[in-house]
Amino acid sequence: MLCAECGQPAIGGTQCPQCDSPVPERETFGGQGGHYLRVLLATSVVLFAGFLVYGSRGSTLAAGLQAMLKNGWLLVLGAIALLPAGIGFYYWAILRNEEIIVTDEYIERRSYWGDQRLDWRQVTELRRETIAFSQTRLGSISRLSRYLTDRKIVSRFPPIYLELVARQGDGDEERVMRLEPGTIDDMGWLLRLIEERVHRTPA
Ligand SMILES: [Zn+2]
Repeated sequence: MLCAECGQPAIGGTQCPQCDSPVPERETFGGQGGHYLRVLLATSVVLFAGFLVYGSRGSTLAAGLQAMLKNGWLLVLGAIALLPAGIGFYYWAILRNEEIIVTDEYIERRSYWGDQRLDWRQVTELRRETIAFSQTRLGSISRLSRYLTDRKIVSRFPPIYLELVARQGDGDEERVMRLEPGTIDDMGWLLRLIEERVHRTPA
Protein backbone atom coordinates (compact mmCIF):
# COMPACT_ATOMS: atom_id res chain seq x y z
CA MET A 1 0.00 0.00 0.00
CA LEU A 2 0.93 3.66 0.02
CA CYS A 3 0.77 6.10 2.89
CA ALA A 4 -2.16 8.41 2.11
CA GLU A 5 -0.32 11.35 3.67
CA CYS A 6 3.10 11.24 2.05
CA GLY A 7 2.85 8.51 -0.62
CA GLN A 8 5.57 6.34 0.93
CA PRO A 9 5.16 2.60 0.16
CA ALA A 10 4.36 0.67 3.35
CA ILE A 11 2.58 -2.48 4.48
CA GLY A 12 -1.15 -1.89 4.96
CA GLY A 13 -2.20 -1.70 8.59
CA THR A 14 1.22 -0.52 9.81
CA GLN A 15 2.61 2.93 10.50
CA CYS A 16 4.28 4.87 7.72
CA PRO A 17 8.08 4.69 8.14
CA GLN A 18 8.40 8.26 6.93
CA CYS A 19 5.63 10.27 8.58
CA ASP A 20 4.17 7.87 11.19
CA SER A 21 0.62 8.12 9.80
CA PRO A 22 -1.39 4.90 9.89
CA VAL A 23 -1.33 3.21 6.48
CA PRO A 24 -4.76 1.85 5.52
CA GLU A 25 -5.17 -1.89 5.05
CA ARG A 26 -7.56 -1.28 2.20
CA GLU A 27 -8.56 1.62 -0.01
CA THR A 28 -12.04 1.80 -1.48
CA PHE A 29 -13.01 3.72 -4.59
CA GLY A 30 -16.56 4.48 -5.62
CA GLY A 31 -18.23 5.17 -8.94
CA GLN A 32 -18.72 8.57 -10.51
CA GLY A 33 -22.47 8.21 -11.04
CA GLY A 34 -23.26 10.71 -8.28
CA HIS A 35 -21.14 13.37 -10.00
CA TYR A 36 -22.93 12.91 -13.30
CA LEU A 37 -26.28 13.02 -11.58
CA ARG A 38 -25.50 16.23 -9.69
CA VAL A 39 -24.29 18.10 -12.75
CA LEU A 40 -27.11 16.93 -15.00
CA LEU A 41 -29.73 17.70 -12.33
CA ALA A 42 -28.26 21.17 -12.00
CA THR A 43 -28.41 21.51 -15.79
CA SER A 44 -32.12 20.66 -15.67
CA VAL A 45 -32.78 23.24 -12.99
CA VAL A 46 -30.88 25.95 -14.88
CA LEU A 47 -32.68 25.06 -18.13
CA PHE A 48 -36.08 25.20 -16.48
CA ALA A 49 -35.28 28.50 -14.76
CA GLY A 50 -34.09 29.84 -18.11
CA PHE A 51 -37.33 28.79 -19.82
CA LEU A 52 -39.38 30.40 -17.05
CA VAL A 53 -37.50 33.69 -17.21
CA TYR A 54 -37.71 33.73 -21.00
CA GLY A 55 -41.41 32.79 -20.98
CA SER A 56 -42.32 35.53 -18.52
CA ARG A 57 -40.32 38.31 -20.10
CA GLY A 58 -42.29 41.54 -20.10
CA SER A 59 -44.55 40.37 -17.25
CA THR A 60 -44.23 38.85 -13.80
CA LEU A 61 -42.93 35.34 -13.25
CA ALA A 62 -46.33 34.21 -11.98
CA ALA A 63 -48.14 35.65 -14.98
CA GLY A 64 -45.62 34.10 -17.34
CA LEU A 65 -46.01 30.74 -15.64
CA GLN A 66 -49.77 30.97 -15.93
CA ALA A 67 -49.60 31.87 -19.61
CA MET A 68 -47.19 28.99 -20.32
CA LEU A 69 -49.46 26.64 -18.42
CA LYS A 70 -52.43 27.75 -20.48
CA ASN A 71 -50.85 27.47 -23.91
CA GLY A 72 -49.17 24.13 -23.12
CA TRP A 73 -45.59 25.32 -23.37
CA LEU A 74 -44.92 24.56 -19.72
CA LEU A 75 -45.34 20.84 -20.39
CA VAL A 76 -43.12 20.85 -23.48
CA LEU A 77 -40.36 22.96 -21.96
CA GLY A 78 -40.61 21.09 -18.67
CA ALA A 79 -40.07 17.81 -20.50
CA ILE A 80 -37.06 19.26 -22.35
CA ALA A 81 -35.62 20.59 -19.11
CA LEU A 82 -36.04 17.19 -17.47
CA LEU A 83 -34.04 15.41 -20.16
CA PRO A 84 -30.57 15.99 -18.65
CA ALA A 85 -31.84 14.84 -15.23
CA GLY A 86 -33.17 11.66 -16.84
CA ILE A 87 -29.79 10.97 -18.46
CA GLY A 88 -28.13 11.64 -15.10
CA PHE A 89 -30.37 9.10 -13.37
CA TYR A 90 -29.64 6.53 -16.06
CA TYR A 91 -25.87 6.74 -15.57
CA TRP A 92 -26.21 6.99 -11.83
CA ALA A 93 -28.13 3.69 -11.90
CA ILE A 94 -25.42 2.03 -13.98
CA LEU A 95 -22.60 3.23 -11.75
CA ARG A 96 -24.22 3.10 -8.34
CA ASN A 97 -22.68 -0.25 -7.37
CA GLU A 98 -19.29 0.49 -8.91
CA GLU A 99 -16.58 -0.15 -6.35
CA ILE A 100 -12.90 -0.98 -6.35
CA ILE A 101 -11.06 -2.29 -3.31
CA VAL A 102 -7.27 -2.38 -3.17
CA THR A 103 -5.30 -4.20 -0.47
CA ASP A 104 -1.75 -5.54 -0.31
CA GLU A 105 -3.05 -8.93 -1.49
CA TYR A 106 -5.61 -8.21 -4.15
CA ILE A 107 -7.65 -5.77 -6.21
CA GLU A 108 -11.37 -6.38 -6.36
CA ARG A 109 -13.93 -4.76 -8.54
CA ARG A 110 -17.70 -4.76 -8.21
CA SER A 111 -19.34 -3.41 -11.28
CA TYR A 112 -22.35 -3.27 -13.55
CA TRP A 113 -20.12 -5.03 -16.10
CA GLY A 114 -19.28 -7.91 -13.75
CA ASP A 115 -17.36 -8.57 -10.54
CA GLN A 116 -13.70 -9.46 -10.66
CA ARG A 117 -10.84 -10.11 -8.31
CA LEU A 118 -7.14 -10.45 -9.08
CA ASP A 119 -4.42 -11.42 -6.63
CA TRP A 120 -1.40 -9.17 -7.01
CA ARG A 121 0.99 -12.12 -7.09
CA GLN A 122 -0.76 -13.30 -10.27
CA VAL A 123 -0.67 -9.93 -11.97
CA THR A 124 2.05 -9.95 -14.59
CA GLU A 125 1.45 -6.79 -16.52
CA LEU A 126 -0.06 -3.32 -16.38
CA ARG A 127 -1.11 -1.99 -19.76
CA ARG A 128 -1.95 1.64 -20.32
CA GLU A 129 -3.55 2.88 -23.51
CA THR A 130 -5.12 6.15 -24.50
CA ILE A 131 -8.76 6.00 -25.43
CA ALA A 132 -11.29 8.51 -26.69
CA PHE A 133 -13.97 9.15 -24.08
CA SER A 134 -16.60 8.30 -26.69
CA GLN A 135 -15.09 4.83 -27.11
CA THR A 136 -15.41 3.84 -23.47
CA ARG A 137 -18.14 1.48 -22.36
CA LEU A 138 -19.83 4.42 -20.72
CA GLY A 139 -19.66 6.50 -23.90
CA SER A 140 -19.30 10.23 -24.33
CA ILE A 141 -20.73 10.98 -20.92
CA SER A 142 -17.40 9.96 -19.39
CA ARG A 143 -15.99 13.19 -20.82
CA LEU A 144 -17.88 14.92 -18.03
CA SER A 145 -15.71 13.21 -15.47
CA ARG A 146 -12.87 15.56 -16.32
CA TYR A 147 -14.84 18.53 -15.08
CA LEU A 148 -16.66 17.05 -12.15
CA THR A 149 -14.61 15.12 -9.73
CA ASP A 150 -11.76 15.98 -7.45
CA ARG A 151 -10.20 18.73 -9.52
CA LYS A 152 -6.81 18.29 -7.98
CA ILE A 153 -6.31 14.91 -9.58
CA VAL A 154 -8.98 13.77 -11.95
CA SER A 155 -9.38 16.87 -14.06
CA ARG A 156 -5.77 16.50 -15.12
CA PHE A 157 -6.01 12.76 -15.53
CA PRO A 158 -5.57 11.86 -19.19
CA PRO A 159 -8.19 9.74 -20.95
CA ILE A 160 -6.43 6.41 -20.63
CA TYR A 161 -7.66 3.00 -19.70
CA LEU A 162 -5.73 0.52 -17.62
CA GLU A 163 -5.59 -3.21 -18.07
CA LEU A 164 -4.27 -5.46 -15.36
CA VAL A 165 -3.24 -8.82 -16.77
CA ALA A 166 -3.10 -11.84 -14.47
CA ARG A 167 -2.03 -15.43 -15.01
CA GLN A 168 -2.14 -18.26 -12.53
CA GLY A 169 0.43 -20.49 -14.20
CA ASP A 170 2.35 -20.69 -17.48
CA GLY A 171 -0.42 -22.42 -19.42
CA ASP A 172 -3.16 -20.44 -17.80
CA GLU A 173 -5.33 -18.20 -19.86
CA GLU A 174 -4.80 -14.55 -19.04
CA ARG A 175 -7.42 -12.72 -17.06
CA VAL A 176 -7.78 -9.02 -17.71
CA MET A 177 -9.27 -6.34 -15.50
CA ARG A 178 -10.03 -3.26 -17.50
CA LEU A 179 -10.42 0.11 -15.80
CA GLU A 180 -11.80 2.87 -17.96
CA PRO A 181 -11.80 6.63 -17.46
CA GLY A 182 -14.99 8.17 -16.17
CA THR A 183 -16.18 5.24 -14.05
CA ILE A 184 -14.11 5.47 -10.89
CA ASP A 185 -13.46 8.47 -8.71
CA ASP A 186 -9.85 9.38 -8.00
CA MET A 187 -8.26 7.39 -10.84
CA GLY A 188 -4.96 9.16 -10.17
CA TRP A 189 -4.58 7.74 -6.68
CA LEU A 190 -5.86 4.34 -7.80
CA LEU A 191 -3.19 4.25 -10.51
CA ARG A 192 -0.47 5.04 -7.97
CA LEU A 193 -1.65 2.22 -5.68
CA ILE A 194 -1.75 -0.17 -8.64
CA GLU A 195 1.72 0.83 -9.80
CA GLU A 196 3.12 0.32 -6.32
CA ARG A 197 1.77 -3.24 -6.28
CA VAL A 198 2.69 -4.13 -9.86
CA HIS A 199 6.22 -2.71 -9.83
CA ARG A 200 7.17 -3.68 -6.26
CA THR A 201 10.15 -5.92 -5.75
CA PRO A 202 8.77 -9.32 -4.74
CA ALA A 203 9.56 -10.20 -1.13
ZN1 LIG B 1 3.63 8.74 5.32
